[in-house]
Amino acid sequence: MAKVTIDTQRCKGCELCVESCPQGVIAMSKSLNDKGVHFAQPARLEDCTGCGLCAVMCPEVIVEVEREEIQLPPPKADPAEPVPPDKSSPP
Ligand code: SF4
Ligand code: SF4
Repeated sequence: MAKVTIDTQRCKGCELCVESCPQGVIAMSKSLNDKGVHFAQPARLEDCTGCGLCAVMCPEVIVEVEREEIQLPPPKADPAEPVPPDKSSPP
């Protein structure tokens, strides 16, 4: 899950972020902001993949997406791969 933050007071209500989200995470609020428009807000954050499309689409640049770091396990040695020769020992 990712974290999506929207500066709701600066939102102009264009809904581009809503339309661009493939997961339907962002919805328009029933409340009005200081500009007198219905603002966008993250509604179903549990479905957010952190793709960042909403942030890219916002013309006001007020959407921030933070992705969680994914901890990958260390790579395992491939048993089929030949072991390089030890160059320190004499031939
Ligand atoms: S980061 Fe992607 S999935 Fe998450 S709210 Fe934005 S567009 Fe939707
Ligand atoms: S794209 Fe930006 S300005 Fe438009 S509704 Fe979404 S947050 Fe508001």
